[in-house]
Amino acid sequence: MSSILRIALQKSGRLSEDSYQLFKECGIRFDYGTGKLKSVSSNFPAEFLFLRDDDIPGYVEDGVADLGIVGENVAVESTHQVETVHRLGFSKCRLSLAIPRGTDWNGIQDLDGKSIATSYPRILGDYLTYHNVSAEIHQISGSVEIAPGIGLAEAICDIVSSGSTLLSNGLKEVEVIFRSEAILIARTTLDAEKQRLLDKLLFRIKAVQAAKNNKYIVLNAPNEALEQITSLLPGMKSPSVMPLATAGWSSVHSVINENDFWENIEAIRSAGAEGILVIPIEKMIY
Ligand code: ATP
Ligand code: MG
Repeated sequence: MSSILRIALQKSGRLSEDSYQLFKECGIRFDYGTGKLKSVSSNFPAEFLFLRDDDIPGYVEDGVADLGIVGENVAVESTHQVETVHRLGFSKCRLSLAIPRGTDWNGIQDLDGKSIATSYPRILGDYLTYHNVSAEIHQISGSVEIAPGIGLAEAICDIVSSGSTLLSNGLKEVEVIFRSEAILIARTTLDAEKQRLLDKLLFRIKAVQAAKNNKYIVLNAPNEALEQITSLLPGMKSPSVMPLATAGWSSVHSVINENDFWENIEAIRSAGAEGILVIPIEKMIY
């Protein structure tokens, strides 16, 4: 029987939509959201399992799944042995310490001898040890932000995105201890056939990510400005330059990184470029 990759995804939560979207962009089709617990892809040798995110590292370690997508916070907190294969760049969040708004903060040493409520005792414990702070850690599984209000702890350590939950519970964020994003994890021992399928999947994921980070750019430039403009547009190898019907002008085609875009576009315009078109790229293969 030929091999099939079993991939564990969060059933429904903050990782789910982007995980499903990633496979869609990789051209891997499967049904989800129908309440089913698993689904076989119709066009790639993969079966998807829909689970609670906390259970995914354990299932991957045990071999129930070969791969999984989880928040790095969950993977690092878990004691299960899995391999981080690739960073996925979505579901970004931070794990922070927060204290009641009226309390002074002079630094992490302020927590010495205090009690802290969290669902992340390992990550927090390591952070405190690293900073030589001895505090009591109360492990609770949810609604951590209410702990100071009910007298359970003097501080909390929890996932923060906008900070509005902290605010409505009278807390202020004082220190970021961990930054997280979604990651692809794998069992530490995959046989050769599964490894080959994983490589195939990674090739697609990287093409999708590269495309997102880059734009295709087309512009018209007077020939005397070509040297300056092409130096601002390195492209994948080098820009394509084609003569326009109008004498003395050329059309330049290239690829530009999203991060450099606004910076370089001003310089490109002041060098004399006109009719600049910026077009999204669907896939990009180096
Ligand atoms: P489950 O029911 O599967 O156990 P959950 O309630 O534990 O879900 P979610 O709130 O869906 O988990 O968050 C899943 C992951 O998404 C978190 O572990 C974290 O990595 C990331 N995450 C959490 N909060 C945010 C946020 N506000 N923005 C982006 N990503 C987040
Ligand atoms: Mg969970």
